Amino acid sequence: MKKDSLKLETKIIHSGEPEPRIDGAVSMPIFQTAMFEYAGETSYHDVRYIRLNNTPNHIVLSKKLAALEGGESAQIASSGMAAITTAFLTLLKTGDHLLAQNCLYGGTHDFVTKDLEGFGISYDFIDGNDPSSWLSKLKPNTKAIYVEAMSNPLLEVADLKATVEFARKHNLVSMIDNTFASPINFRASEFGFDITLHSCTKYLNGHSDLVAGAIIGSKALVEKITHKLNHLGGSLDPHAVFLLHRGVKTLALRVKHQNESALKIAQFLASHPKVAKVNYPGLETHPNYQRAKELFNGFSGMMSFELKGGVEVTTKFIKNLTIPVKAPSLGGVETLVTLPSKTSHAGLSKEDREKIGISDSLIRLSVGIEATEDLILDFEQALES
Ligand SMILES: *Cc1c(COP(=O)(O)O)cnc(C)c1O
Repeated sequence: MKKDSLKLETKIIHSGEPEPRIDGAVSMPIFQTAMFEYAGETSYHDVRYIRLNNTPNHIVLSKKLAALEGGESAQIASSGMAAITTAFLTLLKTGDHLLAQNCLYGGTHDFVTKDLEGFGISYDFIDGNDPSSWLSKLKPNTKAIYVEAMSNPLLEVADLKATVEFARKHNLVSMIDNTFASPINFRASEFGFDITLHSCTKYLNGHSDLVAGAIIGSKALVEKITHKLNHLGGSLDPHAVFLLHRGVKTLALRVKHQNESALKIAQFLASHPKVAKVNYPGLETHPNYQRAKELFNGFSGMMSFELKGGVEVTTKFIKNLTIPVKAPSLGGVETLVTLPSKTSHAGLSKEDREKIGISDSLIRLSVGIEATEDLILDFEQALES
């Protein structure tokens, strides 16, 4: 069969895998060697060395990731932040200006607001919901527009169609952090984004046991970013590449279950008298429900909610939960709960947090792959007691 026409679930297993298989190995072997024998390479970036991101493990997994996103090419990085910051530093130079969505992941927000200035790069934040306001922020030196597929922790969905169109019209590089949606729910490269970024630490690996990132886009852009990555040194070790490769193979099964389970849990929470508010784009009450429905194949395993009664009630509720692990991060097989005010958004002042809708009692939930019924029963008992 033609590989391009295969369904995503099949591509996840077979795309990128070596043909023929290496020494007949069904699973991609780990090439745990820092360097390889010189074989006549003529460019520095082609010399085979782990930091140059070109081991057989890197090449095979990169091809798979590109196929999943519908992009031409991909590269793996040592973390999501390594992928994001290296992409920024490749695509923006001194004197350039960036437009970025106003509700970024904490680490990205910090980099944009605290580090870009040192490189002589300026920025303006934009409201992802209001494309008509973007033109007023555009400058002659604006080079890129940066959004996230779903915001953390309110699960807002920016006008992604308008983002791609705006970028094309004004000759900007369109960049998206697609971590929260994962390629199962949204294939950003196929949709038209120039650069798609992932924290593979989350859904792509899915097992909460490594940190990694990915950059996906055209061959030319990914090569440029890879060269910068080769210089900055944010390379993933082949053993971790192998683990990520193994994790990715179950992505479709995991995310489909998480989509379904999260929707049921969100519906349960929304109908519970002790719950004040649920932020989940799969609920019709979410301000971006219609857009999420049009853009995505599923609404993800992420949500946030608030109980009636404030911080004290919330703390007690979290303590009473027996199944979810109380830990930051997301996208793993185990259900996780955190208070964004104490983890992802602890760097912001209480005032700034409240301005963007993150109260001290907002709970963020990353739904794992446990039985939905068990999770709902656990939430129910924790709410009752
Ligand atoms: C976790 C995360 C990152 C950063 O990824 P790391 O792998 O921790 O460096 C970036 N963006 C989003 C949306 C994330 O959730």
